[in-house]
Amino acid sequence: MKPFGYVQVASVEEALRAVAGQPGARFLGGGTNLVDLMKLGVESPELLVDVTRLPLDRVEELPDGGLRIGAMVRNSDLAAAVPVRDRYPVVSQALLAGASGQLRNTATTGGNLLQRTRCLYFQDTAKPCNKRAPGTGCPAREGAHRDLAVLGHSEHCVATQPSDLAVALAAVDATVHLRGPDGERSVPVTDFHRLPGDRPDQDTVIRPGELLTALTLPPAAPGARSRYRKARDRASYAFALVSVAAVLEVRDGVVQRAALAFGGLAHRPWRARAAEEVLHGAPATEDTFARAADAELAAARPLRDNGFKVPLARSLAVGVLAGLADPATDG
Ligand SMILES: Cc1cc2nc3c(=O)[nH]c(=O)nc-3n(C[C@H](O)[C@H](O)[C@H](O)COP(=O)(O)OP(=O)(O)OC[C@H]3O[C@@H](n4cnc5c(N)ncnc54)[C@H](O)[C@@H]3O)c2cc1C
Ligand code: SF4
Repeated sequence: MKPFGYVQVASVEEALRAVAGQPGARFLGGGTNLVDLMKLGVESPELLVDVTRLPLDRVEELPDGGLRIGAMVRNSDLAAAVPVRDRYPVVSQALLAGASGQLRNTATTGGNLLQRTRCLYFQDTAKPCNKRAPGTGCPAREGAHRDLAVLGHSEHCVATQPSDLAVALAAVDATVHLRGPDGERSVPVTDFHRLPGDRPDQDTVIRPGELLTALTLPPAAPGARSRYRKARDRASYAFALVSVAAVLEVRDGVVQRAALAFGGLAHRPWRARAAEEVLHGAPATEDTFARAADAELAAARPLRDNGFKVPLARSLAVGVLAGLADPATDG
């Protein structure tokens, strides 16, 4: 690992000043991703600005019935927060489906959303990779891509976004709050992660020197139920092959409200708008759920070895929606 500077900051203003004009500076959350990448030589910051002592470590009720989640809230604390478990179970379930207890105790909300892809070539500095070294190529396209994208990929990159939390946040219409040299701004979480296009080196729309300060969740719809389900190779310590986050409200057998997002399929959490169009106002039956999943997955462009993700995503989505629609048979 290359030598680097370290500074701990106590206020947002101090954090922004510490990175201003320093392209080699990185914010340090729990370090569970950044430090691993430093050990691999993928990241070699000159300065780490430790933001874990910032007063952004609370989950707060908002007057409109929503929640504000500080960027330094640890993943375990967020999963266990009573308003999250009660009103946004999909968020709590997504967190608990990720990593391990020890990692969740350390990882922060902000760092979780900004973790980098697990593509093998990205993590191996001996290999070319457009995301790590722009212009060098994408060996995953012809090489090992079983875990990688089937939706929204480009010739330049077929990586997937690894955060389970981000997928759940996409389904509950969360907003990301950022503070940088030009002031504050807010971005819907569905627009925060990018598709790769010809700039796969940019995972998100965050700008140099910007700090992720908080997330807000809109009020949970009364009568809606939510669920996160993840398919993976091992029961723990494994990233999603495919995951589904869903919010569903059914009245008199008819879908009143539906929000669906897939993980493991794309470079960003994939909000399934085409599926939602099929669901709204339709009878809450397995046939409707299957038609909705098919409408979304028609856009899939699998690579040689990851075509299995399409039927897997379909069956996960149908199972989750059917369970939410019928609490009596929900497993
Ligand atoms: C063995 C293992 C298994 C895992 N399994 C899963 C899994 O199944 N599902 C899953 O979702 N995750 C999984 N993870 C990833 C884990 O969730 C992330 O490493 C963690 O959430 C990152 O949070 P952190 O606070 O440690 O981030 P850090 O490592 O500190 O930072 C990550 C990135 O975010 C930047 N950053 C951090 N905070 C801010 C901020 N406030 N503003 C701006 N930039 C910031 C850093 O500069 C860095 O680039 C796993 C990790 C490991 C090691
Ligand atoms: S898929 Fe993306 S991250 Fe993986 S090798 Fe290709 S460019 Fe790099």
